[in-house]
Amino acid sequence: MDYLPIFLRLTNQAALVVGGGTVAARKVSLLRQANACVTVVSPGLEDSLSRLSADKEIEHISGPYQDDMIKHYRLVIAATDDAEVNQKVYQQAKAYNIPVNVVDHPALCSFIMPSIVDRSPIVLAISTGGSSPVLARMIRSRLEALIPASYGRLASLAQKYRSAVKAKFSDVEHRRKFWEKTLEGKVTELVFSGRDKEAENTLQLAIDNNDESGLEEKGEVYLVGAGPGDPDLLTFRALRLMQRADVVLYDRLVSEEIVAMVRRDAEKIYVGKEKANHSVPQEDINKLLVRLAKQGKRVLRLKGGDPFIFGRGGEEIKDLFHENISFQVVPGVTAAAGCAAYAGIPLTHREFSQSVSFVTGHLKDGSFNLNWNLLSQPNQTVVIYMGLTGLEIIGQKLIEHGVSHDMPAALIQQGTTKNQRVISATLSTLHEKVKAENVVAPTLVIVGEVVTLRDQLRWFDPSEPGSIAINNAL
Ligand code: SAH
Repeated sequence: MDYLPIFLRLTNQAALVVGGGTVAARKVSLLRQANACVTVVSPGLEDSLSRLSADKEIEHISGPYQDDMIKHYRLVIAATDDAEVNQKVYQQAKAYNIPVNVVDHPALCSFIMPSIVDRSPIVLAISTGGSSPVLARMIRSRLEALIPASYGRLASLAQKYRSAVKAKFSDVEHRRKFWEKTLEGKVTELVFSGRDKEAENTLQLAIDNNDESGLEEKGEVYLVGAGPGDPDLLTFRALRLMQRADVVLYDRLVSEEIVAMVRRDAEKIYVGKEKANHSVPQEDINKLLVRLAKQGKRVLRLKGGDPFIFGRGGEEIKDLFHENISFQVVPGVTAAAGCAAYAGIPLTHREFSQSVSFVTGHLKDGSFNLNWNLLSQPNQTVVIYMGLTGLEIIGQKLIEHGVSHDMPAALIQQGTTKNQRVISATLSTLHEKVKAENVVAPTLVIVGEVVTLRDQLRWFDPSEPGSIAINNAL
């Protein structure tokens, strides 16, 4: 180990930054986050530093670095492009035993600045010993994804109760077990799902009553939106809960790749739904969720897209609510948003469309009960979920209510997945074109002028995720 990682308390300590450019500004910002009193010495300042100086948030010594300026400071950073100045700052700091860092010159540093993941009061520092800052940043972004933002709040909660726990449980071993139970159990999940007050009450109760049973997790249901197919569209929270679940109930819309990301030893139950062939009736799914949660399990109900958009999520939580089972709902990218982005069709546009409607083209008895007048108004986009079977009638109805027969319309098959295909036509011709193709569910229909923008967007930078999918779809 070439460097010893330490965390330095800089609150109200004087720190000097030599240089006034953008690199210096980044360092000043870090020092200020650590509550240091920052002085910048430089003939000029870039904009953000000028503002800080005008607001008296930092002190500015205008002019070049002068000999021995550093001696009143606890820490020095040189961020100039003048090799002579950098060298001088380093030599003088060394003479005074003041920690010094010359940016991008490991040989002129008595300390190095790590890449940081900030979940204050938890801070992770990553260093490659100056060998590759880019690699350090890549590792950092992986850790950022791995560590929920709420870890900071959890640590603050632990800090707040640390002495109360210490006073209550004098035995070190007991204390350690208490904290393990807290940090692996219910309190943590409550904080992660934003229920901090409940978390605090649970912890307080366990301390007051000397009873740790309340810290253990009871059965809970996670109603999670898995997005339209591409696993990259999962939210961090979805992924975290997928990896905690004891049992998962998933349906046809959830892609195999996503199911494979659920905790390996979780029990996996397919409750797939195919139109008019529901393999497990909705009522049975609702009951199953309740039964499994009552067995004390962490039950993941994984749904395609967003659970509250044509997902019957509302029905599923109703029973949980009545049975007093705790649950959380995690939104997902709905098919309309996913398909539109990957097909290069903006759902709204200042010129063409000022509103967007999501409607279902599937009714239990095969009829439609849509407000055709409303859906036929100009300057809007209509997105039809479950619209494949009724496609021809939907087109006719819109035309009957005044939409032009050559209004652009597109059908997107298996949007956001490797099998995405986009069939675009007009309102009157789409159903025929679709009939001629071998279309595979799920499919989404978008009607509106915005569909034509797809042609313009095709020329976007291919490194853009949307553009790659467009190319796939061609
Ligand atoms: N809750 C889901 C929608 C469930 S209804 C969501 O928010 O996306 C099921 C319908 O969603 C399908 O019939 C289809 O119209 C649409 N759908 C879901 N995923 C899709 C995908 N990857 N591509 C195209 N349509 C999709």
